[in-house]
Amino acid sequence: MRQIYLDNNATTKVAPEVVEAILPFFNDYYGNPSSMHTFGGGVMRHVDQARQEIAGLLGASPGEIVFTGGGSESDNLAIRGTIEALAGRKRHLITTRVEHPAVREVFHHYQKNGYQLTELTVDGSGALDLDELEQSITPDTALVSVMWANNETGVIFPIEKVAQIVKAKGSVFHTDAVQAAGKIPIDVSRVPVDLLTVSGHKLHAPKGVGVLYVRKGTKLAPLILGGHQEKGRRAGTENVPGVVGLGRAAALASTWMSDENTRVRHLRDKLERGIVASCKDVRVNGKDRLPNTLNVSFEFIEGEAILLMLDDLGICASSGSACASGSLEPSHVMRAMGVPFTAAHGSIRFSLSRFNTEDEIDYVIQQLPGVTNRLRELSPFADAPAWQGTPLAHDHDHEH
Ligand SMILES: *Cc1c(COP(=O)(O)O)cnc(C)c1O
Repeated sequence: MRQIYLDNNATTKVAPEVVEAILPFFNDYYGNPSSMHTFGGGVMRHVDQARQEIAGLLGASPGEIVFTGGGSESDNLAIRGTIEALAGRKRHLITTRVEHPAVREVFHHYQKNGYQLTELTVDGSGALDLDELEQSITPDTALVSVMWANNETGVIFPIEKVAQIVKAKGSVFHTDAVQAAGKIPIDVSRVPVDLLTVSGHKLHAPKGVGVLYVRKGTKLAPLILGGHQEKGRRAGTENVPGVVGLGRAAALASTWMSDENTRVRHLRDKLERGIVASCKDVRVNGKDRLPNTLNVSFEFIEGEAILLMLDDLGICASSGSACASGSLEPSHVMRAMGVPFTAAHGSIRFSLSRFNTEDEIDYVIQQLPGVTNRLRELSPFADAPAWQGTPLAHDHDHEH
């Protein structure tokens, strides 16, 4: 059966060029980059080259790049490292309601431990209120963390403006740029962020490697203590194959970004138009989005049911809702945007990459109306339009 992969915001295929770049570091160049001998030192040169390549993608200088074990680790290092460096001198934190759990859960942890937390709202299109941001920052604000682009909806936040507002008020600013890196231009020489997160596996590099950009002069306590790797910011022998792969992926993204994203945007827009034209009761969630992301809600249908039927057809997508303890909670992102309950439950994310083809998109557009029509016939909600827009009790049965 053919497989159509439209879940690239969850993870991406490692690019063939990246695989090719990595393999010698298993077989031939397996030395420890910190070793005194020439064999190890030669490997360090490749780590440094990767550092330059990722710095190039971000407009950073190589000395500001810290390699980590992935996006979640980078987010934790940015937030915990900043808070620990301040040693309790400032006790207010700001983030948004739509962050990835790797940011959200860290802030909730500090909230439970006595820090004051402001979670900024978004409107129905997913946009941030910059006035609310500005008014929330006080002299006691240790850190503001606002993602560059949202993983569920693809909504892009105006990070240049956000960073300017935060820096004018004197707080540290972190952005989770995992979904933005490689998809839209990022230039930290122009945008005054202090800390910025990238994850390898979201841009066609392997899983388990990431980057935290740390602007020169930013105070940051390490999470992992041990050896002197990464200038003491992250101890542990470097994941050399991962780092080399991330460097190669960054270099590829730098050269291909504009062309590939035009092509991906065209495919995404075609999918969006096709779905809106052929399916009933559908709404697109979020405005000003990444070129690869489409989040759509099919009213009165469970997202999981759609996903299972798409899966039978070989189509990989993702739902916006997560199953928790027997009840189906719509995602925190859909809730923050005020998407009505009946629509939030039927939200599906299609996320494309440069490996998708026109033919694949045509197939999805052709199959989807049949899927949603069949499910609507079975839906207990379909004949109850009065429920539209009103929260349902969380007690209906759901089969997993
Ligand atoms: C995937 C993702 C992460 C986590 O990255 P990992 O490398 O999987 O730990 C963090 N933030 C966003 C926005 C993501 O999409």
